Amino acid sequence: MSNPSKSSKPALVPLDIARETFKQMALRRVVPSPDNYLLIYNEIAGITVKETAESAIRKALKQLPNETTEQSKWINRWDKLLKQENWADLSTLLNDSMDANVAVSKQWPDAIRELIQHWDAKQVGLDVTRKKEALEKVLINFGSDPLLAQKLQALANNWKTYGVSDASSSKGIEVIAQVEGKLLSLGDAAVLSDSALETSDLRDSGLNTHNLSTPSLASPEVLNPGYEPDQFQETFRALQDMLKQSLNHGLIPRLDGYPELKEEAEQIFSMSEKARKLKEWQVVVKQFRALLVRVELIGANEEGIKQDLLSLLKLLIDNIGELVADDQWVRGQVTSVQTIISGPLDRALIVDAEKSLKEVIFKQGMLKHSLADAKNAFKSMIATFVDRLSHMTNSTDTYQSKVGQYADKLAETEDIAQINTLLESLMKDTHTMQTDIVRSRDSMMQQSAEVEVAQQKILQLQAELSQLSEKVSIDQLTGVLNRRGLDEAMLKEISRAERGASSLCVALLDIDNFKHFNDNYGHQVGDTALQHLAKVIQETLRPTDIAARFGGEEFVILLPDTSIDAAIETISRLQRALTKQFFLGNNERLLITFSAGIALYREAEEQVTVLNRADQSMYLAKKSGKNRVMTEVDLEIARKN
Ligand code: GH3
Ligand code: MG
Ligand code: MG
Repeated sequence: MSNPSKSSKPALVPLDIARETFKQMALRRVVPSPDNYLLIYNEIAGITVKETAESAIRKALKQLPNETTEQSKWINRWDKLLKQENWADLSTLLNDSMDANVAVSKQWPDAIRELIQHWDAKQVGLDVTRKKEALEKVLINFGSDPLLAQKLQALANNWKTYGVSDASSSKGIEVIAQVEGKLLSLGDAAVLSDSALETSDLRDSGLNTHNLSTPSLASPEVLNPGYEPDQFQETFRALQDMLKQSLNHGLIPRLDGYPELKEEAEQIFSMSEKARKLKEWQVVVKQFRALLVRVELIGANEEGIKQDLLSLLKLLIDNIGELVADDQWVRGQVTSVQTIISGPLDRALIVDAEKSLKEVIFKQGMLKHSLADAKNAFKSMIATFVDRLSHMTNSTDTYQSKVGQYADKLAETEDIAQINTLLESLMKDTHTMQTDIVRSRDSMMQQSAEVEVAQQKILQLQAELSQLSEKVSIDQLTGVLNRRGLDEAMLKEISRAERGASSLCVALLDIDNFKHFNDNYGHQVGDTALQHLAKVIQETLRPTDIAARFGGEEFVILLPDTSIDAAIETISRLQRALTKQFFLGNNERLLITFSAGIALYREAEEQVTVLNRADQSMYLAKKSGKNRVMTEVDLEIARKN
């Protein structure tokens, strides 16, 4: 890739540099891209990177204008060449660039000459005002297009041909429109007015705009005087066939993941089958074009999603070694990634997951290293302690034996001077032993202070880690949303319901006799039951419905665009699904049931209010015998009675 040369800074361990890089990225709030990572990493590591031709070209490409189809085609060709490192194509690309430039610059003198020449020429029905209008339109639509010169030349040419023909005033307008239409490409069409679009639609479908007032396929020679009737019919039919084929065999089979677009494409196809008249074909072509623009947008978004997912995956793989041995965190992260890739893909969701994953990995890395530091401090303290202890025992043993010897000698001696010498020796030995003990104690106290610091750090990191986990919106046991996720989802759904004036139902589910279930089969099997329920919920409901774990063995389901009756039907369907699906616990086939309460969101009320009504309805279901669904309507009736 690059050609790094190290400067004279002190060498750091790569892991430290990587950690510091993450820290700096967070502090400087830079976009967490691989390029930024590399930049900061090199800065910290003191690596100076010589700019390569490749990176210089990439930089230059970013600064080039990328507005027209032509420009983005060039940039894409360069991008592709750099990505694939396909240097063999470089000379072709440079040649093409040169040819294009030369061709464009050559066209200018001719274009200007012809414009001036035909500007003042007298043509009936085509005065200077009209020419000015046409010129302005071309400039507005293609002002920044590299093919502007070519397009201006075409305009001048048309003025010229117009001048020699026997013109009428209505034909004059057609000629101008025709020039504009001929200059259009699919990407440019969006900047023109509706009428201009229609004109170009016709031309794209192989037709011409002459005599628009009598559009009839029965008289093709009137539509386009240049064609022989038979030849025209044939060409037109072939174009119709091509359009239908590309819809039916090209586009429709590729839209499986997009039911809405697929349905639209099928509708356009069936319209094309029925279309007989020119006007009907105009509609088919217009709708086909609009559909293509949407398909193009989706393609771009899919590419983005693919890139985001790949970088998320890479992040997981790169950092798996950094994850703490405590698999609870790993499990949480893997679950949230799984949830993201199993649901409808949304770029914002992936970017959010990537952000929180990065934070967790960074903290986990720090925690892991601090734990290792703390363990080392403990080990070294224990080693010192044992060492000092054995030393102390040694010195006390020696001391005792010495004291014993002194006592014996004292018992034997009568000489005061000798006793004095003995006592002096004894005092000296005692002092040595005391010094040893004090030294051991000091050293042990210092070690224990270090351990204390390490422990404090671990506690603080653990607190941060659990705070971080609160930011994650997925319940780690069941994989559905947690309370936090539910809060966010409810905010969104409520505002959507208010905007669209649609009905939003909230259902609250509580497993029946779950305490008893736990007592019978154990807490572990109870957890499996919760996971089983979450799985059945997710399999049974529509993709737009949202499931969350409200707490313990209670779940909330948000049902957007759903009336109370439809909500009862949905939750009852879920009950039936649950009774049909066993799950295994302690090698037994087990079944669970739940009671549910449903409430309908009322305009401008708080989240908690609608949840309360659902809760009270659920409580009524419990009181009425469990394993049933009740609504706020039942609640009202019960209150009245
Ligand atoms: P009811 O039909 O009236 O709802 O009876 P119940 O026993 O389900 O009611 P209650 O709400 O008193 O008991 C809920 C039990 O759910 C208590 C607790 O042991 C269990 N529980 C809550 N959270 C969990 C969990 O995460 N795992 C397991 N295994 N059990 C849980
Ligand atoms: Mg409960
Ligand atoms: Mg319960």
